[in-house]
Amino acid sequence: MAEQFASDNYAGICPEALEMMVKANAGHEIAYGDDSWTAKAVDTIKKTFEKEDSEVHFVFNGTAANSLVLSSVCRPYQAVICGEYSHIETDECSAPGFFSGGTKNLIARTPDGKLTPELIEQVVKRRDDVHSAKPKAVSIAQSTETGLVYTIDEVKAISKVCKQYGLKLHMDGARFANACAALNCTAAEITWKAGVDVLCLGGSKNGMALGEAVIFFTKIENEDFDARIKQAGQLASKMRFLTAPWIGMLTNDVWLKNARHSNQCAQYFASKLRDIPEIKIILPVEANAVFASFPPALTEQLHSLHWHFYEIIESSNRFMFAWDSTTARIDEFVADIRRILAK
Ligand SMILES: *Cc1c(COP(=O)(O)O)cnc(C)c1O
Repeated sequence: MAEQFASDNYAGICPEALEMMVKANAGHEIAYGDDSWTAKAVDTIKKTFEKEDSEVHFVFNGTAANSLVLSSVCRPYQAVICGEYSHIETDECSAPGFFSGGTKNLIARTPDGKLTPELIEQVVKRRDDVHSAKPKAVSIAQSTETGLVYTIDEVKAISKVCKQYGLKLHMDGARFANACAALNCTAAEITWKAGVDVLCLGGSKNGMALGEAVIFFTKIENEDFDARIKQAGQLASKMRFLTAPWIGMLTNDVWLKNARHSNQCAQYFASKLRDIPEIKIILPVEANAVFASFPPALTEQLHSLHWHFYEIIESSNRFMFAWDSTTARIDEFVADIRRILAK
């Protein structure tokens, strides 16, 4: 299929991640994570986050990472505060509730997809009785499902309100690299140094074949996360193929190079759309996504020309850019838009 802008997971594997998979394929290795590749991947992640005493785990995808983390933080009668567009609420088929055996999402109205200390406090204060699920965690996506980025100060302010109410702060980092690249900050500054307790670090959308890392910066009491991973069917027997690519991604900042590229493609596309009066960009472009409202007939005709993209928020179209997106293909897309509108 020709390059598309429907999702950053339409893209293939970047060369650096693939090369590590091929290298890891030489010879035999111990199974289930007791291998040298996994040890090195854990070490590389800890160094990247400047946190030797963190705890690192690997799972196949983001839904599992988020769900297992939230079920380890919350008891079945407790709840997670999140925004209305959060992946854990809209795109995980209730998996966080399923894995925890009952944990509920408490939704804040977030028109632009971002949680704030005020919104969290409103949800906390909504109810304070035995009949409603008690908040135990806050979940934010960095970058957000709406393509926005929380600044370091914003994360710190959220973490402050979390501490005040005894809530753990979970960061869904399916697009964590895009946020780091946009903020031009270190991985530590926007996570544990800003008060994040646990991060789900995304690999697939950043250029890996599959796989997300879970990083606990603070300890969760009475937790046996390895057992949770196994019970959920998320323990890879040939673990090295899930872990070796992380070494390729994090060495020489390939993860940031990929993210910077996809962010720049989003900026490039947005700059082209701003010249077209019939189209309105509805959210700031801060990471690798562009949300824009198109005349309905235009959307329909672009689909019939085999352009793939999704209508996501407020009947706007979402365009996502990947590590391998090209300006040439963006130009082709814009040319089709202009041709249709000129008719
Ligand atoms: C893509 C994505 C995930 C992970 O989804 P999987 O398909 O389960 O890997 C998690 N959170 C956000 C915000 C995402 O965009």
